[in-house]
Amino acid sequence: MTPRERVPLAPHCTLGVGGPARWFVDASGEAAVLEALDWARRRGVGFRVLGGGSNVLVADGGVDDLVVRMSVRGVTAEERDGIVVVTAAAGEPWDDLVATAVVRGWAGLECLSGIPGLVGATPIQNVGAYGQEVSETVAAVRALDTRTGRVLTLAAGECGFAYRDSRFKSGEPGRWVVLAVVYHLRPEGPATVRYADVERHLGARGVSSPSLADVRESVLAVRRAKSMVLDPADDNRRSCGSFFVNPVVGLEEAAKVEARALDPGMPRWPQADGRVKLSAAWLIEHAGFRRGLRAGPVGLSTRHALAIVAHDGARARDVAALARRVQGAVEERFGIRLTPEPVSWGDP
Ligand SMILES: Cc1cc2nc3c(=O)[nH]c(=O)nc-3n(C[C@H](O)[C@H](O)[C@H](O)COP(=O)(O)OP(=O)(O)OC[C@H]3O[C@@H](n4cnc5c(N)ncnc54)[C@H](O)[C@@H]3O)c2cc1C
Repeated sequence: MTPRERVPLAPHCTLGVGGPARWFVDASGEAAVLEALDWARRRGVGFRVLGGGSNVLVADGGVDDLVVRMSVRGVTAEERDGIVVVTAAAGEPWDDLVATAVVRGWAGLECLSGIPGLVGATPIQNVGAYGQEVSETVAAVRALDTRTGRVLTLAAGECGFAYRDSRFKSGEPGRWVVLAVVYHLRPEGPATVRYADVERHLGARGVSSPSLADVRESVLAVRRAKSMVLDPADDNRRSCGSFFVNPVVGLEEAAKVEARALDPGMPRWPQADGRVKLSAAWLIEHAGFRRGLRAGPVGLSTRHALAIVAHDGARARDVAALARRVQGAVEERFGIRLTPEPVSWGDP
């Protein structure tokens, strides 16, 4: 294995900012991933995994590590006891897998249509959208433990899934390399419709009992209207999607925020554990940041206040500075510190 040196990471990331990787290698098989880990360990070099680069903010100075781009491909499916067991390699494009599931009539992923990136990243932050999260269908994750060099299969219960989080993201960051994910889908199962925007879109199309394909079509249309699909013709295309996660707070804190907001219409969604999820986009807009705001070469998406967008000449430090400005204003106005969703590589 001969990694390339000083490879720019910006072209591999949807934000299109950030410096180079000191070493970079494409791994198109599990053996290549293991070899790359061995290479890094022998040299005492840090080891990072890159998928589609749609949820990572790379510092302008780059990273002094070996970056392994996950290119392991392959999907298998078999029906067992009324469940379709789908095993997808980490380098499979996520939305292709969703499209296949929808065409074959396997329910469980349809609301997750249009999310950029690769399969291997889906358990990392338990990707979710429009009322579904992958944790509802992930049965197991095949992963390389970089501490021991062993490949293990972790059951879903061992993955520490939570809202936009998992054992892989905040519990033990950098420890696990996801090699493949096993999903349990429902053959000919009903489509999930849990989100008002999708319901409205289906209603406007005159669809009353939606198929999986109907839901996929509506989700994609709703996402497109918010610049939440990758579209080379869209001025908002250079982003990580939502830059902040929605804050989940206790009832008391939610009441305090509501009192500060002086708006009974403030969106709030009660959670199963008794806490309340607030809308980060609403908090940002009500802290004085309008959609389309520009701060030099970066700004907020013209279609969604939650997305920070990079324009020509943007650097990682511009993205980070706007993120800090938004965080500071929301904290001052509402007393809530927003948590960034993308993973930072280096110190932008
Ligand atoms: C327009 C847009 C819309 C988006 N909408 C959504 C949405 O609706 N819901 C949502 O949840 N997210 C959304 N995202 C964020 C992002 O697409 C997802 O988090 C996606 O799963 C990231 O995949 P990736 O392959 O690009 O990961 P990367 O950005 O390459 O990596 C992200 C992190 O995961 C780690 N990682 C990646 N692959 C592996 C692996 N195989 N093993 C171990 N670690 C790994 C990386 O090291 C890094 O820390 C959106 C992003 C964009 C640009």
